[in-house]
Amino acid sequence: MSPVHHYKRAEKRFVERVLRFFSSIGDFFAKFFGAIAGFFRQQVTVMLVPHSERNIFNFRISAFSMVVVIFLIVCMVLTFILYSTRFTGVSDLLTDKTQVLEQRDADLEVIRDQISDLLNTSRVFEESLHSTLDSLGLEKRKEEDKGDRTGVELGDDAAELTAVKGLLQDSLEYFDQIAKMLQAQQSLIVELPTIWPLRDVRGYVTSYFGPTTHPFTKHWYLHKGIDIAYSRGTKVVSTADGKVIEKAFDVNGYGNYIVIKHKYGFYTRYAHMDKVYVKEGQNVQQGEVIGTLGSTGLSTGPHLHYEVRIGTQVVDPQRYLDFNSSKNF
Ligand SMILES: [Zn+2]
Repeated sequence: MSPVHHYKRAEKRFVERVLRFFSSIGDFFAKFFGAIAGFFRQQVTVMLVPHSERNIFNFRISAFSMVVVIFLIVCMVLTFILYSTRFTGVSDLLTDKTQVLEQRDADLEVIRDQISDLLNTSRVFEESLHSTLDSLGLEKRKEEDKGDRTGVELGDDAAELTAVKGLLQDSLEYFDQIAKMLQAQQSLIVELPTIWPLRDVRGYVTSYFGPTTHPFTKHWYLHKGIDIAYSRGTKVVSTADGKVIEKAFDVNGYGNYIVIKHKYGFYTRYAHMDKVYVKEGQNVQQGEVIGTLGSTGLSTGPHLHYEVRIGTQVVDPQRYLDFNSSKNF
C-alpha cells in the first residue's frame, strides 16, 4: 500500500469519527431539551382539600406555569427579606442618630445656660463700668447705640453673644480712656504736694493748720501749716516735683527753712530743719530728701513745720496729703 492511500483511509476514518461524535452530542441535546420540553408540557393538578365539609378545590396547571409561579414567589420572598434587612439597618442608624441628637441637645442646653450667665455677668459689668465712668466724669456711650442691645430676645443665643462681644469692644475704649486719665492723674499727683514730708515715718502731728494759741505768746493766731514732731535728723522730703526758690535762716521764726515752688501755683515751706541739703534754684523731685528734721528758730523741740500755699493763700496741707494715700503714713 502506498503512503498516500494509507493517508486517505486514515483521513476518512477520522472524519467519520468526528461526525459521529457531533451527531451523538446533537442527539444528547435533542433528548435533553426534549425531556425538558416534555417536563414543561406536563400537566399537574393542584388539589386543595379543606378540613371542613366544603368542596375540594382543584386546578390543572402546566409544569412550566408552576415553575414560573414558584420562581415569582421566591423572588418576592427574597425581595421582602432584602428590604426588611435594610429597613432594620436604617432604623438602627436612626436610633443612633437620635441618641446623638439628644446628647447634642443636652449639651446645647448647658451652653445656653452658660451664655445666659455670661450675659447677666456682662450686664453687671456694664453697670459697674458705667458708674465708674460716671464717677470719673468720663464720656458714656450714647443711649441710641445701646438700643439694639436692650432689644435682644432671650433665647436668641447668637444675638446675646453679639451683645456681649459689643460690650467688651466698647469696654476696651473705656479702659483706654480710664488709663489715659490715670496717667494724667499720676503726673498731677507728682506735681501736687501729695506725699508726707517725712521719709519712712509718720511722726506726731502736734499742731494742725488753723487758728490756735501760740506756744510762746499764748495768743490766738493762725497756724499756717502743720507741725510734725519726731527725732532730730529724720529725713525731710519734697512733697512734689518743683524748684527751691528760697533758702534762709530766720532765728526768730522758721529757723533753717526752704520754700519750693511747684506747678499750678503751689508752694511748700519746710521749717525748723536741722540741715538743708538743697540750694536755691535747684530742681527737686517728689520724695527727694531736702534736709533733716531739727529744732532751729522759734521752736520748743524737734519738729517740722510744713506749709502749703496756693499763690499767696495758705491752705491746709492735709487736704492734699489725702490725695495719694499709698504714699502716706
Ligand atoms: Zn508750726
